[in-house]
Amino acid sequence: MIHQAIEQLISYCTYQELITVEDQIYLSNQLCALLDIEAFDPSFDEVSIDEPIDFYLKPVLDYAVKEKFIPIDTTWNRDIFEDKIMNLFMPRPGDLTKQFYHTMFDDPLKATNDYYHIAKQSNYIKTSRINKNIHYVKENDYGTVEITINLSKPEKDPRDIAKAKEEKHNYPACLLCKEHVGHQGDASLPPRMTHRIIPLTLNNELFYLQYSPYSYYNEHCIVLHEDHIPMNVGLHTFKRLLDFVELFPHYFLGSNAGLPIVGGSILSHEHYQGGRAHFPIEDAKVIQSFTKGNTTYDVLHWPLSTIRIKSKNKEELIQAAEHMRLSWKEYENKALNIYKKTDQPHNAVTPVARNKGGLYTLDITLRNNLTTKDHPMGLFHPHENHHHIKKENIGLIEVMGLAILPGRLIDELSLIKESFLEDKSFPQDNIHYQWVEELKSIYSGQDIDDFLDQQVAIKFTKVLEDSGVFKQTKEGEEAFLNFVKDAVYDL
Ligand SMILES: [Zn+2]
Repeated sequence: MIHQAIEQLISYCTYQELITVEDQIYLSNQLCALLDIEAFDPSFDEVSIDEPIDFYLKPVLDYAVKEKFIPIDTTWNRDIFEDKIMNLFMPRPGDLTKQFYHTMFDDPLKATNDYYHIAKQSNYIKTSRINKNIHYVKENDYGTVEITINLSKPEKDPRDIAKAKEEKHNYPACLLCKEHVGHQGDASLPPRMTHRIIPLTLNNELFYLQYSPYSYYNEHCIVLHEDHIPMNVGLHTFKRLLDFVELFPHYFLGSNAGLPIVGGSILSHEHYQGGRAHFPIEDAKVIQSFTKGNTTYDVLHWPLSTIRIKSKNKEELIQAAEHMRLSWKEYENKALNIYKKTDQPHNAVTPVARNKGGLYTLDITLRNNLTTKDHPMGLFHPHENHHHIKKENIGLIEVMGLAILPGRLIDELSLIKESFLEDKSFPQDNIHYQWVEELKSIYSGQDIDDFLDQQVAIKFTKVLEDSGVFKQTKEGEEAFLNFVKDAVYDL
């Protein structure tokens, strides 16, 4: 059985062009060594490439469980052993880099396509797990909003959690550090044997390109600084982002704000997120445009106050964005609860760069991380009455209108649905109780799935509105336009 499983896995990877026919016997012997079985004379027959790689990995992993190579049968431990297997099919980092740049020279799109293909076929990006994510689009007052409920991050089994407590690390310094390349993982670190990163020069500094294993959208990539240094948004950020979209015009790249609450989940390591995807913010209506020199400033109708700065001249755009950032840093409007500083500075920006056929754009979203007595987690952060759906930071992906909601919601929403269908009362101690009561008062018998999807989208829109500094009121809009006008014309 295990012989056949090995043969089929190798055949599949050959069809997927992870390896060549010349590699097949080598891999058969390597897999025998890994599984401590005697080498045999393999034959490589046709296999179906319509199946995901998991289909061919499963029998090998089952064998590894049976033979105690995987001591406790949890998803986490299976992932670790699977990564060891798949690493045998991977090019070494130096070889992959050489291959990438060989293609990159003529065709950056093909270079990223090939690299992405390897990341998926090696199961570094677990496509079949990601395919189980919930994903839909709903209309709202701003255009559309996209909802994803994410299951691709493996949930830890209590046995994994107990083991993880025993393991503390100083190396690598954080989950993003380049030192993860080839790391076998353990109870606290996810396996990264098949992890490969590509060196890039941005603003004359060394960065690395990698794909996110959780892939929140198409070709979700991360660009990380070579050193473990903290996030810091400034002139250098705009230069790096634009250098990147010049190299890879088919990708966007953005940075989270450099302050807690309004920043991303990892502030300790300078990094950016990009990819090849279209986001709702790209279709936002323009409220008003200002022009200065070769640069245009579009004020967007969007729940989070955003200015789209556009120019064919990269250098002019960088200076314009930096000027906008500095103007915002000094802005204050106490009537609107915008305080630039208390015991620490509060104003920050979330920038996102794109290259539309040589027209460079930078979306600058204004952020503020003030906390108050009523809103201890943040005044411009999802408010408490929405925490049952979302309480995490609103990072750059969500700023663009793509919700990344926690996997727990799938079960919770089906409980809510049940209560509607069976007309059962909903438990009062449930975190969604208040919301369900409100929904029941407006529900009029429409399709329940569609109704709940719509209500989640409405909630998420409100979460984004909570995070916006200038509110969707006459005063808010007026102050926003005045701020931009003053910044553009230096009034
Ligand atoms: Zn780090």
